[in-house]
Amino acid sequence: MDRVVDPATGETIAEVPRTADLDAAVDGARTAFDDWRRRTPAERAAALLHLADLVAADREGLTDVESRNVGKPVAATPEEIDFSVDNLRFFAGAARCLGAPAAGEYVDGATSMVRREPVGVVASITPWNYPLMMAVWKLGPAVAAGCTVVLKPSELTPLSTLRLADLAAKALPPGVFTVVTGGGGTGAALAAHPGVDLVSVTGSVRTGRAVATAAAPTLKRLHLELGGKAPVVVLDDADVDAVAAGVRAAGYGNAGQDCTAACRVIATPGVYGRVVDAVTAAAASLVVGDPRDAGTELGPLVSRAQRERVAGFVSRALDAGAAATTGGRALDGPGAYYAPTVLTGAGQRSEIVQNEVFGPVVTVQRAADEAEALRMAGDVDYALAASVWTADAGRAMRAAAGLRFGAVWVNDHITAASEMPHGGFRLSGYGRDMSTAALDHYSEPRHVMVRW
Ligand code: NAD
Repeated sequence: MDRVVDPATGETIAEVPRTADLDAAVDGARTAFDDWRRRTPAERAAALLHLADLVAADREGLTDVESRNVGKPVAATPEEIDFSVDNLRFFAGAARCLGAPAAGEYVDGATSMVRREPVGVVASITPWNYPLMMAVWKLGPAVAAGCTVVLKPSELTPLSTLRLADLAAKALPPGVFTVVTGGGGTGAALAAHPGVDLVSVTGSVRTGRAVATAAAPTLKRLHLELGGKAPVVVLDDADVDAVAAGVRAAGYGNAGQDCTAACRVIATPGVYGRVVDAVTAAAASLVVGDPRDAGTELGPLVSRAQRERVAGFVSRALDAGAAATTGGRALDGPGAYYAPTVLTGAGQRSEIVQNEVFGPVVTVQRAADEAEALRMAGDVDYALAASVWTADAGRAMRAAAGLRFGAVWVNDHITAASEMPHGGFRLSGYGRDMSTAALDHYSEPRHVMVRW
């Protein structure tokens, strides 16, 4: 049994058994695949639209579960449910638009065509920061493409995913979407299972490496959405109030537990002092409290262990010479609360600048000029997301072209759209969630040639 804890109170709210029989789950998905892959795109789309409607109708219940299990403020969580619904609807539409080159004659006396076919049984492994949304990001494109899915949520936050499985049972045939529960060992066993064709993981770099190793003997296809350390490049001509509002939302939303969090501000000299003041004031103004209070903007971290991890990062940064302009400490009480924190004076090679903290902690660094700011932005091992803030369209385009990250926002940070790909490269992994790029990932082009 895994104990499931409310991070706002430390109380156990459920006990979830670990799935003992992975073979049964994978065999069920294999059997379902034989039928599901033959369904027309219209049938698959109808099922996904049905599921989207069921999720939409359960908005309140899912918000409550997600808030209790993850500590998410109830004021912000419905947006995640709405975005999950939008994602399912997008993939319902996209299921009917799977493209391939038109048939043609590429060799004398023969016609060639491409058949786009689903890859098979997909094992999905999801993290604790957006349990429902990450499950939907995996389920949507895979099921739309004709795959079947066995999904393992984080052992810390399985509740909304189990609720999604109950809803899916009403919309999808048995075995198309199966949830198994357990920790890293269950994930590793799933990744190594010979009945699985593709493993899709959202999680830490450590888990990505472990899954790649477990999947290697059977040469499974992989899709790895891993960590991030997003820079927020602020140039002299930027709108500082907009930067502060952007960092307030994108650096501290979900208590900073976001792979694209705006956690690493880099400002040029003409604006640096104003940015430090504005970001500090914005962080200090966040309403921290019980996630169930409608006015709460920042809830607890997912667990006390995660809070200890964040506290360790900050205390080592302070020891190494950084200064906290606000926060820098855990908050009292049984919940896993940590004060919204801004750190200045951290060096480019320091741990706090180079590593993912996954908490409400933002560093602000000073760069000599635009070129150095862009160089510092790219000088980490992650490449998932970045933003640049400037009033000059030319500078914005130059920066967007130069910043090699999976997503680059200009005068914004974190906003996502179901139509647009999400994913990174380098230590942030490979493969894409959302968009038709995800759909491509779950299907294989096959060549059929007919000799006349
Ligand atoms: P984690 O890596 O600890 O766990 C993720 C999942 O992997 C969980 O379900 C866990 O049980 C499972 N797991 C752990 N060890 C495993 C193993 N050896 N084999 C197979 N599965 C294993 O990550 P987390 O702490 O739950 O989530 C935070 C991480 O997720 C951060 O690094 C964050 O950046 C990343 N993340 C990335 C994205 C993205 O889209 N790139 C989105 C959200 C979160």
